[in-house]
Amino acid sequence: MMTSKLRQSGGVIEHYREYLPVRASTPIVSLAEGNTPLVYCSQLSSRVGRGCEVFVKNEGVNPTGSFKDRGMTVAVSKAMEHCAKALICASTGNTSASAAAYAARAGIPCIVVLPAGKIASGKLVQAFAYGARIVAIDGNFDDALRIVRELGDGHRFVIVNSINPDRIAGQKTAAFEIVDVLEDAPDFHLLPVGNAGNITAYWAGYRDYKSHQRSTRLPTMIGFQAAGAAPIFHNRIVEKPETIASAIRIGNPASWKQACAAVAESHGAIDIVSDEEILEAQSWLAKHEGIFVEPASAAAVAGLFKCCESDQAAYSFQNIPEASRIVCTVTGHGLKDPDPITQRMKELKPVAASVTDVRRASGL
Ligand SMILES: *Cc1c(COP(=O)(O)O)cnc(C)c1O
Repeated sequence: MMTSKLRQSGGVIEHYREYLPVRASTPIVSLAEGNTPLVYCSQLSSRVGRGCEVFVKNEGVNPTGSFKDRGMTVAVSKAMEHCAKALICASTGNTSASAAAYAARAGIPCIVVLPAGKIASGKLVQAFAYGARIVAIDGNFDDALRIVRELGDGHRFVIVNSINPDRIAGQKTAAFEIVDVLEDAPDFHLLPVGNAGNITAYWAGYRDYKSHQRSTRLPTMIGFQAAGAAPIFHNRIVEKPETIASAIRIGNPASWKQACAAVAESHGAIDIVSDEEILEAQSWLAKHEGIFVEPASAAAVAGLFKCCESDQAAYSFQNIPEASRIVCTVTGHGLKDPDPITQRMKELKPVAASVTDVRRASGL
């Protein structure tokens, strides 16, 4: 507890306490997560056309660089309320980065079970830096989660994957923030889907806010899976999910049913985007809007393009009302997963340190 009167910015629990499962006695473990930018994107809007306004909810700006921090502050605070001895999680990368940071903050150990060789370098660096106990397995994320489910025991060794309902509760705050800024819910909400915790959380958040008269409507939810890891889209478990977007490389989503409910109740859709479309959208967003996101996050933007431009889209924007408001959540920061782009940096060859050479090389 801070003793001075310095005003520190609070996190999502401080802002949205009445909507979250915390009590006065819950010790708050926070890194001032949330309150992320909702960025109006003029170039994206004109690509969509029809006078639509497109906003990007930039979750890469959270303390560990992904939306996972919103759920983690609640999950770890509740774990501390129940006198947890350690946190444990399976991860495709961002959950481990976030869990490790909040465990460090809480002063308890964090055990991370990862698929060996499948974690983006920036995320693995984070887990090491925050001092997690890292175990790599010869298996995929779904195997790691199965093991973690057996190791966790409720109160002492708390599982902080999105099967923990406190994670979902915390992640609802992103929907609250969007409504608070737009002064109502958007017409459409697009986001990537992996384990499907986040689409579940957004939908719950929009519904909570509407039932408290904080908004007048609910958005249509449209979720995007990578084509090689699309169990919900195909309605069957994918044994060996494959995609460059490691954060959504999941074959058997934990919140499968809830995601289907969100999509059905909001009259939305689950669709797929290819790795090529994902990388194209990642690069487009960085170059046209100045927002650099990791590949999984770009799935939402690739999905937006598909809705507007492809006759294969599960949800077509051809007939959406003029001036619709569209929000795309970009879930994690681009620096977490530099490998696909570092390939291209090999083309960089030094020139002599002279004005003439620099002028020539830069095409001035
Ligand atoms: C976790 C994660 C996802 C997937 O979210 P789910 O809740 O598992 O559907 C997408 N993008 C990034 C960057 C993530 O870290």
